Amino acid sequence: MSETSEKKPAKPVVLTCAQPTGRLHLGNYLGAVLNWGRMQDDHECYFGIVDQHAITVPYVPAQLRENTYSCLAQYVASGLDPARSRLFAQSHVIGHTELAWILGCLCPLGQLERMTQFKDKSRKQESVDAGLLFYPVLMAADILLYNAALVPVGDDQKQHLELARDLAEKFNHRYSDTFKVPEPFISKVGSRIMSLQDPTAKMSKSDPNHAATVFITDRPEDIRKKIMSAVTDSSAEVRAGADKPGVTNLLSIMSACTGRSVAALESEFAGKGYGDFKKAVADAVVAMLDPVRLRYDELIKDRGELDRILKAGAEQAQATAFRTLSKVNRKVGFVERPR
Ligand code: AMP
Repeated sequence: MSETSEKKPAKPVVLTCAQPTGRLHLGNYLGAVLNWGRMQDDHECYFGIVDQHAITVPYVPAQLRENTYSCLAQYVASGLDPARSRLFAQSHVIGHTELAWILGCLCPLGQLERMTQFKDKSRKQESVDAGLLFYPVLMAADILLYNAALVPVGDDQKQHLELARDLAEKFNHRYSDTFKVPEPFISKVGSRIMSLQDPTAKMSKSDPNHAATVFITDRPEDIRKKIMSAVTDSSAEVRAGADKPGVTNLLSIMSACTGRSVAALESEFAGKGYGDFKKAVADAVVAMLDPVRLRYDELIKDRGELDRILKAGAEQAQATAFRTLSKVNRKVGFVERPR
């Protein structure tokens, strides 16, 4: 992208940040990553792998590094395209922590102490470090550094986005108009995928029951096994409804994988048993995820390619970050950095 078009983005800037926390599952894929991929044509997308956020809770350094590569490979395999978007590791871009410090100097301590996620996470830890408290300020910096207009957020991050909006407004008011106040991006077609073993709970990567979660890098035989053993009910009727959460979940998974409506699937399987139905669901999931897994398997072995993607993403993100940072530094009264 040329220097001038970077300065005046015609498309709205979208920032998506994800912690490198291991394997993505079918819920992440259908509920989030597919939508992010669809946004790449008409938005200027930044996809940040936020490794600096990942060290706010106990972790293993070697695993963090592996997870960062794995997370990148899964995103690229899922359709996030380094040629159209900026895929980068947060720690590779100078500016996130610098801006976080400046925003932190505008942020009342009480507002951070009231964050629900801080209270939840700190309850689970014996001792709490300042980084965990400061996490939402770093997230605000992630967003404001790129002047993002839109931020796709789940329920758990809404309060953090609210803080980013407050800090943007506060900075603009105290110094002068600098930051866009970011809006939450609520996707139109978000599928909520439920656990295969307890269809009243969301599918989750941390489910201790391994049969409950389909990971996007699962082998076809494992996907089939998990779907064939999914919890349904005793009525053997393929129909969606509040009284049939297991079948409803499988119907919405198949619908999301094939693009066919739930009603069309209900008529196709009318009078057929759960065995045939589950086999068809498994076929649909395998057909959708197989190319993703094959691409992932190739990429994860190719560190050179992953490093090249990270380098290119960081260079592009850095150009934007430096522009914001130099404007901010000037406004807060720092002497211009010697060049
Ligand atoms: P998490 O894995 O909780 O960090 O979530 C990453 C993204 O995936 C967020 O945008 C979530 O809203 C989305 N997500 C997580 N679990 C599910 C699920 N079971 N169904 C649909 N979307 C999900």
